[in-house]
Amino acid sequence: MTDTSKRLVLKFGGTSMGGPVRIAHSASIVAAEVRNARQVAVVVSAISGETDRLLTLAGELGGGLGEVETDTVLAAGEQVSAALMALALKREGLKARALLSWQLPIEVDGPPGGARITGINPALLQACVREGVIPVVAGYQGVTSEGRLATLGRGGTDLTAAAVAAALKAECDIYTDVDGVFTTDPRIVPEARRVARISHEEMLELAAMGAKVLQTRSVEYAKAKGVVLRVKSSFLDPGVSEGTEVVPAADIAERRVVSGVAYARDQARLSVYGLDPDSGQAADIFSALADAEVGVDMIVQARARSGEAVNLEFSVERKDLKRALSSVETEISRFSGTSLAHETGLAKVSVVGTGLRGRADVARTLYDVLRGHEIAVRMVATSEVKISALVEADLLEHAVRALHAAYGLDQA
Ligand code: ASP
Ligand code: MG
Repeated sequence: MTDTSKRLVLKFGGTSMGGPVRIAHSASIVAAEVRNARQVAVVVSAISGETDRLLTLAGELGGGLGEVETDTVLAAGEQVSAALMALALKREGLKARALLSWQLPIEVDGPPGGARITGINPALLQACVREGVIPVVAGYQGVTSEGRLATLGRGGTDLTAAAVAAALKAECDIYTDVDGVFTTDPRIVPEARRVARISHEEMLELAAMGAKVLQTRSVEYAKAKGVVLRVKSSFLDPGVSEGTEVVPAADIAERRVVSGVAYARDQARLSVYGLDPDSGQAADIFSALADAEVGVDMIVQARARSGEAVNLEFSVERKDLKRALSSVETEISRFSGTSLAHETGLAKVSVVGTGLRGRADVARTLYDVLRGHEIAVRMVATSEVKISALVEADLLEHAVRALHAAYGLDQA
């Protein structure tokens, strides 16, 4: 009874809930876990396409994303799914009960369309599990202190699943349409392999790449609460999908130095020249960017060749460039002797790995490989678990392939 390793939350995304046939198949995966003597809870997304359909419907009556009533419309998709899954589980001969967020409750605050989970009462979940009834929780939503429904942002059912798992001290299997996370995008590198086990930090970096398998906030939540996640495919027979296990970094014994190559297209670089290093001008620029809601990614600051001034370079997403330029322009017009330049047509390639910490040779390989392929590096930035380089967009796929091979990721 106290063996929490037996507890498992299964989350099914939109494609795994894509109509009666897929729901029945997902239910059979739940049934197989119950036969394995696991105590289970289920969290579900809306049927694929349903949230978009509901959003369009609300929009036709003037309800935009981020409005309170729109949120109530959107929340309905997951509520229908929860009840459908409970029906499918009953047909498997199991006991099940659909649970809506106000019944638990799942408490949230923050704006409609982007709420965050602040608390979850596990009592009803625990009572169900104890009585052998499978709780099927509607994902993507919670109740505010004013007693209104609010949704958690697109892809938010992952966050509900992580929160339910934390509340039950369970592990969490996230079922989707791909069998885990790959060493890079298989559309660019056909030799890309499934990663068996990575840390939450690495997952955060790899999830930012291309196909979003997990909502970023759910991984941050799981990391904070130490919840083990597994990304699995519901398009295989029960028990077949091995997927990718996402665990605390401390639990990874033999580390690959590099576990994947991630990328991001549509990047731009801004360069601010001639800043006074002792005046807090750089901080002013970043607070102006924050006010304009521009996400700044890589940042490099270097002393200019002549005199005491410093140059500041940073990257932003292409879609934020206009806003970034106008807020930086306004800001530096107050500082004499400064100027601003920018470059578009860039992309970012990142080498990700928990074993990267303090390994200068990894950075050296990155420089060597890119130089060997005549790919100019526009900017480099490092964090605990990644080294990123800004390159010309036309050369991105070439860079991804070269680095994937250089770090031996195509070999098992
Ligand atoms: N149904 C919501 C969406 O499409 C939430 C989710 O699926 O996680 O974003
Ligand atoms: Mg999703």
